Amino acid sequence: MSDTKPWYIKGLRFACTECGKCCTGTPGYVWVTPDEIEKMAFFLQLSIQEFSKRYIKRVGNRFSLIEKKNYDCVFLKEKKCQVYGARPIQCQTFPYWPEHLKSSMHWKEAAKMCEGISDNAPLVSFEQIENQRINTCAKNRSDD
Ligand code: SF4
Ligand code: SF4
Repeated sequence: MSDTKPWYIKGLRFACTECGKCCTGTPGYVWVTPDEIEKMAFFLQLSIQEFSKRYIKRVGNRFSLIEKKNYDCVFLKEKKCQVYGARPIQCQTFPYWPEHLKSSMHWKEAAKMCEGISDNAPLVSFEQIENQRINTCAKNRSDD
């Protein structure tokens, strides 16, 4: 019988340093649901209509936050998220995205971009990772 336990069963080392790098970089999408749009609009004390006009673009039948000209997320300001308390699930669940958890090699690849993934960071348990992973409906700032 083959061992089906995930490679990260003993947990992974990660703690966010708030460097803001995962909100920048190459062109991508921050996918948002109508519920998340409503939550962010409320957070910024804007109507859903006004919020959507300013910050949302439609991509096919999905919605994404817009980016600045340099491809930073529209809500990144001085390395801080301006909607942190209402940020989308995709942002909340980084870096535990399916593509980063495929293998230790993929996780190491993610560490090149995310300095919070480090041998010196606290251990995050398998259960905590799974809770995050299950919440991830799509990848943040992805190109698909
Ligand atoms: S790149 Fe990693 S360490 Fe930096 S803000 Fe994003 S999650 Fe935190
Ligand atoms: S919404 Fe906030 S956490 Fe998410 S990508 Fe934009 S700045 Fe980063």
